[in-house]
Order: sequence, then structure tokens, then C-alpha cells
Amino acid sequence: MENKATVETTVYACGYCGKLWRNKEDADLCHMDRTCDECGTVIEKKSYYTLCDSCKIKKEQKKIQDLYDKATKINYEEYMNLNPDYPVVYNDVFYFDDLDYLLEKCEDEGEPILKWVWGARLSNIKLDPYDIIQQFEENVELDDYEMHKPAVNEIVEFCKLWNEKHSQNVYYEDNSVVVLLGQGGVEYDYYKCRGVWITRKCNRKFISHA
Ligand SMILES: [Zn+2]
Ligand SMILES: [Zn+2]
Repeated sequence: MENKATVETTVYACGYCGKLWRNKEDADLCHMDRTCDECGTVIEKKSYYTLCDSCKIKKEQKKIQDLYDKATKINYEEYMNLNPDYPVVYNDVFYFDDLDYLLEKCEDEGEPILKWVWGARLSNIKLDPYDIIQQFEENVELDDYEMHKPAVNEIVEFCKLWNEKHSQNVYYEDNSVVVLLGQGGVEYDYYKCRGVWITRKCNRKFISHA
């Protein structure tokens, strides 16, 4: 067997029982409970989180509440008049003409009455010739390199043709728009039933049926 050098290492002893641990954090926790940073409740020692479940949920709800407070509020009817083809978004799912279906589903599943949902924004995704050219010019890493005019024109022309064929309308969840469903006021209850929801601003997309 190959002769490897011995390495000196550090271990940590629990101050109460003397048990040895490789990590200081584990030794600190050996005879002590791990507690939630927020409320001090004892939490699972192996938890990756620094908060208890209930504080985690409160934190997520506060995030949603903050987005809600800042968002523009619009009634469902107004929203549909302004943007007849737009979906509304609930729990990351895009609902187009099927709001009734969503409301029934919530009712069937015994969830609280849904008072609002997120709006959506529309974007047309397509190739941008000048983005492509700029990226190319950066990638060649030559000072003062500039693509010559006929080459630029060909890319512009190609992108035009491509976009005519392949550009697409997509919808993104828009956390700056709250669509009120007129089911008894604007009181906050979104996602309450599910507890944890990770806030992502406008990063969900849905390819439109159009
Ligand atoms: Zn111990
Ligand atoms: Zn807590």
C-alpha cells in the first residue's frame, strides 16, 4: 500500500458528556437543543433551516403579503376587459377561460374562498439580431472587432424570417398585478391553505394557445 502521511486534525468535545465530534456545530448541539432563530422553538437537529416550520410559513406569507401590498389591484372583470386573452395565475398554474373551474376545485378541496389571484403579462419571444451580433463580437475577444455591414444585414434578414415563423407569445406570472375576484373583499388569504410558497417574480411562463 502507498505510504500516505498522517495528518493532524481537530475534534470537538461536548462540554457536558465529552463525546467527540468532527464539527464544532455538532458538538455545540450534542447536549443542547437547536432552536428557531425567530421564535426559539426547538427544531430538528438535522434541519437545513434556521427557522421552525411555522416561522418558515409566516416568512413566506409575509413575502406574499409585501408583493400583494405593492401590486396594482384590479377587478377580474376589468382585467378581462383590458386583456381578454390573458390568464390568471394561482399556485403556479395558469388559468385561461377556466376561472370557474379553479374556484370549484378550491371549494371541492375545502380550501378557503379564493379572493384574488396573480395577473399575467404577455411577452413575445423572438430572436434579436443585435443581441446575437453583440455576443459574437464579444466572444471573438479581439479589440475593435466589428462585424462588417453585409454580414450584419444577413443576420438581421435571417432573424426577421425566423421571427415571422417562430416567434411566440408567452405569459409570465406578474406579481405587480393582483386580480380581485370579488368574493367578499380583498382580505389576504392567498396560499394560506398550502402554507409554503416560494416567491418568484415573473419567472414562470406559459406558452399561449394563440
Ligand atoms: Zn453531549
Ligand atoms: Zn419559529
